[in-house]
Formats: sequence, C-alpha cells, structure tokens
Amino acid sequence: MKTIETNLREYGHYINGEFIGSSSNKKIERKNPATGELVATFSLGSKEDTHHAISVAKNEFENGSWPKMSGEERGRILSRLSRLILENAERLAVIESEEVGKPITDARGEIELGARVVEYVASLAQQIHGQSYNNIGRNRTGLVVKEPVGVVGLITPWNYPALVFCHKVPFALAAGCTTVVKPSEFTSGTTLEIAMLAEEAGIPKGVLNIVTGTGEEVGQAIVDSPDVDQISFTGSTSTGEKIQSGSAKHSRKVTLELGGKSSMIVFDDANLEEVLDAAMLGFMVNQGEECCANSRLLLHEDIADKFLENLVEKVKGVKIGNPNNENTQMGALIHEEHLEKVLSYIKSGIQEGARLLTGGKRLTGTEHKNGLFVEPTIFDQVTRNMKIFQEEIFGPVLSVIRFKAANEAIAIANNTKYGLANSIWTSDVNKALNVSHALRSGTVWVNTVFDLAPQLPMGGYKASGFGREMGTMAIDEFMEVKSININTGKWTPHY
Ligand code: NAD
Repeated sequence: MKTIETNLREYGHYINGEFIGSSSNKKIERKNPATGELVATFSLGSKEDTHHAISVAKNEFENGSWPKMSGEERGRILSRLSRLILENAERLAVIESEEVGKPITDARGEIELGARVVEYVASLAQQIHGQSYNNIGRNRTGLVVKEPVGVVGLITPWNYPALVFCHKVPFALAAGCTTVVKPSEFTSGTTLEIAMLAEEAGIPKGVLNIVTGTGEEVGQAIVDSPDVDQISFTGSTSTGEKIQSGSAKHSRKVTLELGGKSSMIVFDDANLEEVLDAAMLGFMVNQGEECCANSRLLLHEDIADKFLENLVEKVKGVKIGNPNNENTQMGALIHEEHLEKVLSYIKSGIQEGARLLTGGKRLTGTEHKNGLFVEPTIFDQVTRNMKIFQEEIFGPVLSVIRFKAANEAIAIANNTKYGLANSIWTSDVNKALNVSHALRSGTVWVNTVFDLAPQLPMGGYKASGFGREMGTMAIDEFMEVKSININTGKWTPHY
C-alpha cells in the first residue's frame, strides 16, 4: 500500500490570488468515502463571497492584463501549468483519490490526462485567429475578429474534479476570459491545488478565482449574477436545466455537459476477449460514477450466453476496497445518499423483473465496513422501458439486452433521452461506420471505450447537453465574434 497523505487539508476560497475564509466562517468537512476519515475542510461559501469573486474577475477582465496578452504569452503560461500539474501529479492523484473514493491508479491516469489537455490548450492559445475579406464591395475591407466573452462562471461535478477543470478552465483562459470556478462541495481539493499551480505558472491574480460551497448558495449566486457573461456547467441534467432557465433572464451564453445513458453494442464478429475487459471497464470505471459509462450492454444473441458467463466470472474477481491500494480496481461511492440511490435502482431492477446475474448488495465485511462500497451488479433480461435501462444510475450497475440485427441494436441504443458516448465492437469496418452514423450521441467509440484525445470534441446530443469541450472548437465556446466592416473610400449608402 502506498503512503497516503494523512494530514488534514484546510482550504479557503481562492480569490484575487489569496486564500481567504468564508464571510460566514463556516466550513464543509470532507471524509474519505472509503474509510470515513476526515481528509479536508473547505470554506462554506456565501452569496457575498461569490459576489466578491465575480467583482474581482470583472475588474480583471475590464482593467487587467490577461485579456490583452498575446496568445503566445497565454500559451506559455498554460504550458507551464501543464508541466507543474505533471510535477505534482502524485500529490494531486492522492487528493483526488481520497476525496472521490476512486482507485489511486485511476486518479493518476486522470491527472496525467488533465495535464495533456492543458498542454494541448497551450498550443491552441497561439492559433486563435479571425478572417479577412477584400471581396465585399468597392473600398470595403471586412475583418472577422474573435474576442473573449468576458467573465465565465464554471461549475463542476464531483466525479472527475481535476479532469473536468482541465476540460473547461484552460480553454476559457486561453480565450482571454477571467473566471469564477465553483467545484463540487464534496471534492474541491484538486481544483484549489491546481489554482496554486496556476499562480506559480504566472496566471495573474484575479483571473482564476475559486469559490467553494453548495450549488444552492454559490452556484445559484453565479447563475443570478448579471456580471457573469457565460456559464459552463458539467453535472446532472436536472441542475443543468435550472442553470439554463436561470440564465435566460440575462440572455447569457450557456454550455452544458450533462448526464448520459450510453450503450456498448457488441456484434458476433467482435474480438470477445477484448470486449470482456472493455465491458467491465464500461460500467465499473470510477465506480460507475461516470457520465460516459456504457451501462447498457447490447449483445448479439449468438454470443450472449457464453459472453455473460465469462463476464460474470471476471466481475466476481474484481478487487474492491481501499482506493489507496495499488491493486484496487473499484473504490467507494461518493456519499451515503448516493449509495442509497444506487441500491434503490438495483431493487427496482429486481422488482421490474430483470434477472440479477451477480452483485446487488452493499459490501459490509471487515475491509469495507467504514466505506461506501457496492458490488458490481449485472442484470440480464432487461427490457427497454425498465427504470434501470432508462435512467442514469451513476453506479456500477449493468443492464443487458440481446439483439439480432444492427438496426435493432441502433434503435435500442437510441431509445434514451440522453446522447453522450456509445461504443461499437465489430471487425466489420462498414458496419462500424454505418452504425456510428446512426447513433445519436456526441461520441462514438469503435473497438475502444473511454478513449479521450484532447483533439476530439466531447459533448452531448439531446438531454446530455450542448456546446463542446476539447478540440479546437472548445476555445470558440468562450469567444464572441465581431465583424468589422471598413470603408476606405467616399461613403455612399450600401446594403
Ligand atoms: P450536480 O448537478 O448535482 O452538481 C454539479 C455541480 O452543480 C456541483 O458543483 C453542484 O454544487 C452545482 N449545483 C447544484 N445545484 C446548483 C444550482 N441550483 N445552481 C448552480 N449550481 C448548482 O451533479 P453531480 O452529482 O456533482 O455530478 C454527477 C452528474 O454530472 C451526472 O449526471 C453526470 O452524468 C454528470 N457529468 C457529466 C459529464 C459530461 O461531460 N457530460 C462529466 C461528469 C459528470
């Protein structure tokens, strides 16, 4: 077992380059969900704290150096931030693992990917450019320029706090925006740690501000503020809808990365050895607390029985326990209420007539007695209208349906209000492409799953949200476009 950081971490808000306490003096306590130990305290933010951070960001946007800096300078600073994240990767991974309850090996992968995304954004910062036109009329020159949108409020969830930060904040910064970030009240540590690294990298005070606290208080204050020009949100669809309606009164730009209910479609010509591992990862990664979880497994009927037999055997051997142990494959759920919600979905699957193949219970043995552990659970004979097939469970629960033909699999996979990230497994490239085009989701993986590349945009169709993160278009999300139409001759009316 690795030596884990045992010192209690006490954080304030990070505003204008300083760590400060909450105006209420109240704190949030975070316990490691795998052990019950207190690992961190965060300031319980108030409306006043949030307004203070927003006014700092606004002042910095209007009067500070960051929005006016060259893309090259901003890129150099972001590149330094990427390097600092890598240099501090182990500490960040331990904090992420302790607060979220995810295996330390997964947390390391998350931090390393976050650093890669920041490095990618650093290279994009230098390439932001507009267009020019000299064919729009006599003595006319047209310029299309891009400008930072202003003050951006970024609200993030608890499941991948560091990675979601890296999916959003560096893009907003590269665009020249100033920011107020509200991490989840359960897992704010790595966000605050990265803020310290951002300062060391050279991001000026007041450009990146972090206010910790609840969604009802701090999140709502960001939504209600007329001084926030854009909100970028990742979280549940129900909170996303509130943020969207709250933003309507300000006619403000909003981007939403929301929930999912994605399928893994396995054809009879797939490499089934590989799919076994992929299917396990598909529903168990991050304890199933994963927006892109492939929590629906659609199996071609000819391979289904044998495949499920092998899958159940493999899943029974999974090491579930203390996330700090190098061999642990699945950690603890985020909090008690969420664990109860996952168990109630399992109960509903049984009540609705699905066949429980493995799992279904909370783990309570010696190794698990202080933590929030649930067995990986597989249901066969699921039907399309069951709750476990339609709703996002956000826990390690897999629902299996069998199919005969590709069209049937497509219809089942698209039978959801969500549209985030399906995967297809086949050795037939034509089938892979045809099915990819037919699936209504922002990502389709072919013969792979949870394969993120900073160059490839991520986002949702339907109730999974709108706007894109990653890829070149992610910077445009944080930019306004201005047309400048210049007359260099005698003015005459011109339409
Ligand atoms: P959540 O919606 O409960 O909370 C997300 C954030 O919003 C938190 O910081 C929370 O404090 C804040 N919040 C809550 N109420 C608010 C309000 N009224 N106004 C403003 N902010 C408010 O989500 P969660 O439980 O933290 O995360 C799990 C959800 O996130 C899942 O649905 C998952 O699918 C989704 N998610 C999506 C992606 C993606 O890329 N699409 C990535 C990760 C997680």
